[in-house]
Amino acid sequence: MALFASEKDRKKIINKYTTVLQCSVCNAVYTELLNVGTWECRYHPGTYDYDKDEWTCCGEKLHNPSNYNDVGRYFTWNQSFSPVKAFSNGCTPCDHKSIVSKVPYEDVNVESIAQLIPFMKPEVDKRNYTLKEGTPYLLRKKPFIPPP
Ligand SMILES: [Zn+2]
Ligand SMILES: [Zn+2]
Repeated sequence: MALFASEKDRKKIINKYTTVLQCSVCNAVYTELLNVGTWECRYHPGTYDYDKDEWTCCGEKLHNPSNYNDVGRYFTWNQSFSPVKAFSNGCTPCDHKSIVSKVPYEDVNVESIAQLIPFMKPEVDKRNYTLKEGTPYLLRKKPFIPPP
């Protein structure tokens, strides 16, 4: 039970959520405390259809070299310090993601991080969550509902 966690466990949770990470998708620098449930990154929930040459979720096409040359050269210079890329990382909001994060990329039971709640900005109820049997869980990504 999180509310009665030992001092050692409390420190472990704080460490996990305050480690500075870099998103492997958009390069944003973040901590899980600021990240979880805020959906500030993007992903493609579908798969890439090589026959139609587009993502099944949104119809976006892979960017071929010719349209990169047309548009990309105007954006290349600022990619290194801006999370805004010339082309989208995805069509659907999700949390930033890093393989070195010690917080698994799955929904987070708010009770398990109860001691962090006072430090969360935006607050838990302004983030994306769902109730599972009365307990709020912060969601890592917007669920994808495939087109009929
Ligand atoms: Zn998509
Ligand atoms: Zn990101």
